Amino acid sequence: MKKKVMIVGSGFRGFCDALHLMDNPDLELQIVDSAPFFGGVMHSLDIEGFAVDKGVHIFDSIPVSLAETVTEIMDGQVHEIDFVSASAFNNKVTEQFSLPDLNSLDDASVKEQIRQELLTLAKESPTGLPANLEEYFEQRYGKTAAGIFSQIFHKVYGLTSAEVEPTAIAQTSMGRLKFLDDDAMRELKQDPWLDTVLAARRKSMGKIDDFVSIYPSDGNAMRGWCERAVKWLEAKGVAVKLGVKIEKIEEDDNGVRVHTNNGVIEVDTVLWSNDSIKALGDAIDIPDDVDGLQYGTPMMFATLLTQADKVRDFTYLQNFDPDQLTYRTAASGRFSHQVRPDGVSFLTAECPIQIGSENWNNPDAMGQKVWDEIKNLGVVDQDAELVAADIKRIPVTFKLAKTGYAKAFTDFHQKVANNHKRVILRDVTPFFRRDIYFDSAHLGELIA
Ligand SMILES: Cc1cc2nc3c(=O)[nH]c(=O)nc-3n(C[C@H](O)[C@H](O)[C@H](O)COP(=O)(O)OP(=O)(O)OC[C@H]3O[C@@H](n4cnc5c(N)ncnc54)[C@H](O)[C@@H]3O)c2cc1C
Repeated sequence: MKKKVMIVGSGFRGFCDALHLMDNPDLELQIVDSAPFFGGVMHSLDIEGFAVDKGVHIFDSIPVSLAETVTEIMDGQVHEIDFVSASAFNNKVTEQFSLPDLNSLDDASVKEQIRQELLTLAKESPTGLPANLEEYFEQRYGKTAAGIFSQIFHKVYGLTSAEVEPTAIAQTSMGRLKFLDDDAMRELKQDPWLDTVLAARRKSMGKIDDFVSIYPSDGNAMRGWCERAVKWLEAKGVAVKLGVKIEKIEEDDNGVRVHTNNGVIEVDTVLWSNDSIKALGDAIDIPDDVDGLQYGTPMMFATLLTQADKVRDFTYLQNFDPDQLTYRTAASGRFSHQVRPDGVSFLTAECPIQIGSENWNNPDAMGQKVWDEIKNLGVVDQDAELVAADIKRIPVTFKLAKTGYAKAFTDFHQKVANNHKRVILRDVTPFFRRDIYFDSAHLGELIA
């Protein structure tokens, strides 16, 4: 008899778990999700007739084996993304760079201060374990640059860097520091320690590894991929059940009874492939301390319609200016091949915000403000016109681990493992699709 495995969560994690298990002939797989659609955060919205991803979602820097699967699911309809990125800070734009460029600072003495602090750090090569992200920034970039990075972090994520685990660095675009021009950075990078900390732009990106970046080209954005993925999985024998809410999970020596809004489902193993720890705790009656330690960054999400030929050739621009509204602006309409017959396409802009703030309470006023800001940043031509704007309030986007999360998660994980041999809580630390894919590759050992 085949072993029945229920994967809870149809986001990319659940997909990858299914992908890595489905060739095992001894397993019968089903994916369940409480949402009525497949794909979690990858499932695009329907705005003004366009399929609009909730933020920038690209299969970026993924291994060839995963790219082949994505391509197969898309019946070959994918195109490579040739990143044209830019970043903004202090009202200046740095082309071909997606991290904050502190070289945009006007005050040369601040840059000199950063240089001196880095040279001191390079002599010490600090190795101690930082307690939070603020300490991580200080150990890596020195006090002055750390202070600026912490301000930027606060702008984007709405939390101070002292409030989050140092591992949050993996979710940010602050893993390297650039604070002078490229030649000066390259010179500093001669030092082996500084080489691991500093960034300089390359003349050409070239091919830096065996990873590829692709995106669906059928004009349905990521939602198209999500919908095709369901059919592909079903054709491979994986059942997909959407709109299924799990209420209780009971386990004995014979198996697991999963009580849902749709009746009881009996399986041998449950794989909890999502980060809703509280929902699992409630279902198996184990209290958790994790819930309050997860912070979801709220965003205002702007979709701005304009003529495609007025949009500059870029993939995305990350604006790190703490005083400005936008964070990441993307030419999503163009790279998702969505241009209406009248030539209109769209840009998207993720705008970090505090829930309850004036802008949060007046979404309709945001469209024009965001448009004016991105025009200033040069991502659309000066004579471009805003055809329409849609503003959505998204209370939870990037999820960050507050300090204490790692310990609380490990404790909860241990309790689940001790009390429920047939319920496996997946590690939710891997963030990028590539890392999630690699992490799922080890699943076989857990299921055996
Ligand atoms: C705005 C944004 C942009 C990103 N862009 C990129 C990118 O371009 N490239 C990249 O590599 N990574 C990107 N990431 C990171 C990466 O996409 C995500 O880490 C990954 O897609 C998350 O997949 P997931 O399955 O863990 O979570 P989710 O996509 O959130 O899926 C979790 C699923 O579990 C379901 N679920 C939750 N609780 C329950 C329950 N109790 N019962 C049943 N179902 C439940 C949810 O409904 C959801 O469908 C981005 C992340 C965000 C937030």
